[in-house]
Amino acid sequence: MKAVVLTAVNEIGVAEVEKPKATAGKSVVKILACGICGTDRHIYHGEYPGDKPVILGHEFGGVIEEVAPGSKFKVGDLVSVDPNIVCGTCVDCLALRTAFCPSLTALGVNINGGIAEYVLTPDTQIYLVRPDLNPLYLAFIEPLACSIRGLDLADLKGGEKVAVLGGGVMGLLVVQLAKLAGASEIVLVTRQKYRREVALKIGATRTIDPINESVTDLIKGMDVTFECAGAVETFEQSQQITRRGGAIIVLGLTASDTKVSIKPFDIVVNEHRIQGSYLNPLTQARSAELVGSGKLNLDILISKVVDLDGVKAILDAPPAEGDIKYIVRP
Ligand SMILES: [Zn+2]
Ligand SMILES: [Zn+2]
Repeated sequence: MKAVVLTAVNEIGVAEVEKPKATAGKSVVKILACGICGTDRHIYHGEYPGDKPVILGHEFGGVIEEVAPGSKFKVGDLVSVDPNIVCGTCVDCLALRTAFCPSLTALGVNINGGIAEYVLTPDTQIYLVRPDLNPLYLAFIEPLACSIRGLDLADLKGGEKVAVLGGGVMGLLVVQLAKLAGASEIVLVTRQKYRREVALKIGATRTIDPINESVTDLIKGMDVTFECAGAVETFEQSQQITRRGGAIIVLGLTASDTKVSIKPFDIVVNEHRIQGSYLNPLTQARSAELVGSGKLNLDILISKVVDLDGVKAILDAPPAEGDIKYIVRP
């Protein structure tokens, strides 16, 4: 089969590799769609830990191609895959803090993932989706699951005011989740004009251009701020725009050695809750349900669909202005 294999930092290409075979407890999934995300770029450039050689791709789904005897799945089932494999028995897993499982391994990071024609997947990671789902939407279930984790942690109440800093996929999914959750105001901040226009179409009540407008003058007293940009500036702004007693949910990933300046005094007197949100613990099934419900506008987020041969060019260049989500259809 054909696959996009990362052999070393900054070395990637389409290769002919052996098609996997189903083994006990694992099924072969024929990939119908796999999203490319910032994490893939980080892994490619050696900025995020991953094993090599490896087939990249952790945002994917497809149809069951082959099952082992006793599998609860059958050939032809349309499925989403949760790439993060945990042990299920350690202290963290038993306490439902599965993202912290010390033996966590991820498809597309440590073991072969979804930018390929087929992938071998533990049945524990597979979720059935409605058979008539647009296969391209399978690429959104993992990133949406991460966004749902952020919403869970935010404990957003109906009628509250929300700010979203960052207009990438994560930010634009959070906008839609906040709308569904009943936020009264949803302000999206992003530099890119096209992304601001998209945000207004899918639930934002207001957008701000941080280059030409003052974020901290124009936004005040938000109940919940979602930091989805992973930048120093947005992290610092989040504390100024969030009301006293409000929550700051940090979904954006900075480089691991990035530092920001914060005033501990302000955290105390404002009782700000600064809460990180990592991966998709226990949210993949709900994400698959929500994508299947048709309540999200995903078409508007798809910028380009490429085949395996088109992946390297996407990873080699920064995302083009206005582009939101790239999807690989092998
Ligand atoms: Zn991702
Ligand atoms: Zn564990």
